[in-house]
Amino acid sequence: MEELVCQWCAQPLRWEPRRGWVHPEGGLYVMVCASCGWRGAPYPSPARCPQCGGEVLDDHCARPIRLSDLRHVPPRDLPRWRKR
Ligand SMILES: [Zn+2]
Ligand SMILES: [Zn+2]
Repeated sequence: MEELVCQWCAQPLRWEPRRGWVHPEGGLYVMVCASCGWRGAPYPSPARCPQCGGEVLDDHCARPIRLSDLRHVPPRDLPRWRKR
């Protein structure tokens, strides 16, 4: 079976029977810290940034697409931080 990746962050996704597609860290949502730039997808979602204790926001929800389809996604739709 072809690998499924997240359209927004290009990380490989895995299927959790009760929750659906999740990021490698286990979270459906990728969270981002407004203060220090921490980004991650732990499960359950943290209320505070594990790095600085700041406020975390939802960055995006896992959206599975085939790895081969990722190339057809216009570059502007890909998250900026993937290129880092
Ligand atoms: Zn993602
Ligand atoms: Zn932080």
